[in-house]
Amino acid sequence: DDLFGAQRRNSQGLNLSNPEVLQQLQQDLAAMSDHAWQAAPLIAGQQIRSEPHPVYSPHDRHSLVGEVVFSSQSDIEQALQQATSAFNDWRLCPVGTRAGYLRNAADLFEQQRLELAALCIREGGRTVRDALAEVREAVDLCRYYAACAVEQFAQPQRLPGPTGEDNQLFQIGRGVFVCISPWNFPIAIFIGQIAAALVAGNTVIAKPALQTSLTGMACVRLLREAGIPENVLQFLPGDGAEIGRHLLSDGRIAGVAFTGSGATARLINRQLADRHGAIAALIAETGGQNVMIADSSAHQEQLVADALQSAFNSAGQRCSALRVLFLPTDIADSVITRLIGAMRLLRVGSPLDIASDVGPIIDQRALNALNKHIETLKREAKLLYQLPLPADLADGCFFPPTLAEIPALSFLDHEVFGPILHIVRYQANELAKVVEAINSSGYGLTLGIHSRISATMRYIRQHARVGNIYINRNMIGAVVGVQPFGGMGLSGTGPKAGGPNYLQRFANEQTLSTNL
Ligand code: GLU
Repeated sequence: DDLFGAQRRNSQGLNLSNPEVLQQLQQDLAAMSDHAWQAAPLIAGQQIRSEPHPVYSPHDRHSLVGEVVFSSQSDIEQALQQATSAFNDWRLCPVGTRAGYLRNAADLFEQQRLELAALCIREGGRTVRDALAEVREAVDLCRYYAACAVEQFAQPQRLPGPTGEDNQLFQIGRGVFVCISPWNFPIAIFIGQIAAALVAGNTVIAKPALQTSLTGMACVRLLREAGIPENVLQFLPGDGAEIGRHLLSDGRIAGVAFTGSGATARLINRQLADRHGAIAALIAETGGQNVMIADSSAHQEQLVADALQSAFNSAGQRCSALRVLFLPTDIADSVITRLIGAMRLLRVGSPLDIASDVGPIIDQRALNALNKHIETLKREAKLLYQLPLPADLADGCFFPPTLAEIPALSFLDHEVFGPILHIVRYQANELAKVVEAINSSGYGLTLGIHSRISATMRYIRQHARVGNIYINRNMIGAVVGVQPFGGMGLSGTGPKAGGPNYLQRFANEQTLSTNL
């Protein structure tokens, strides 16, 4: 494993421009289109049986994907007991063995990528391309964290000391980690959190997003098949608020890895703070109010292509997605015209259709929030364009790619999680004010720059308090080991998933000083 050197490779994808590969893919996906999946609490390897709830596709509310059994209070207690008692053995399990399980898991994910992709397309409304990319990301995360663990954790670091004294620094697991993942990356983020926590020596209780429990269950099964011992990984599907109330008030929890809304992160923080027991580590990755700044030197075709992809890919349901494009007044009208022209070519449709660029919104509640935002835009700002939706999508939660103009970034008082791109015009000599507006939004996740002036790029880079900056390209799809991903301020506690320092956040450090 050459982790940081020239030899590192991310997992290979499918060549979807090859018609034969494409045809095979469509056949394979069609073959899985009426499979019924199941999810249930998995505690010490035992699947709990109880009354299940049906799960329907976001693109078709009549299409049943499977059934999920919610976790009861006693399931939560059992999971806690198992995870707590398994910790000592797991902590002492050699790092190389733990890493080996992740490598096995990566191989299994690669072998089963079509099944996993098919499931997260149907359950999570991910497009075919997004779903396949997500399986690749999960594979990369497993291999990357396995390599990081071996490189950083297998041997203690030797530290200097006076003659006759030996000093070492060990990285050890913290204890029971709860991993709470979002529905927008039901494979990659779900697996990434669990893989990092496990390989760092923690036992894990995984809580999938309610909307994507079936995908979570399929992932946990593969992790178990890869060799992760049954009492080391527990799985608790169900309602977040309900499970959180019992689980996070328990003093046996040493840490929580969470990706989701800022409001939920605050609630988790409060629950952890209010319980008896040790102070728990919280790794939170929350939302963004992500901006792209173009100046008059921007290459307009490239800008439009990148803005479009950043705003509308995954129906804008990425926390990295572009929400607000800042355009200098002299090019604003021409860019807006080009954007609308390009938006007309987007295809909104069933995620099962490989030709769809934009799939559904995750559920009716999310759709309602977007519709409410449109009403505000109509009343208080300017709607520039909405792509007409095809009539045959009426049974699903679809929302049209939308372009709007708002007077300022501060007009947005919440994260708009969907395919809505807002334009703000600025005076070319007021770049400093734009950066100030970004910083005072409090969010700090991704930022795009389109410019060919190095002083502009440098100024923005030095002053903007954000986690991931992308120049003259799109601003989504961070690659494992290449663009470690995570933000600051309202966007999260800072650790970068897929980065070389991530695992440390899941570990405690212990020094050993021996007088020889
Ligand atoms: N890492 C993803 C990206 O770069 C976004 C993750 C998220 O939405 O939580 O697009």
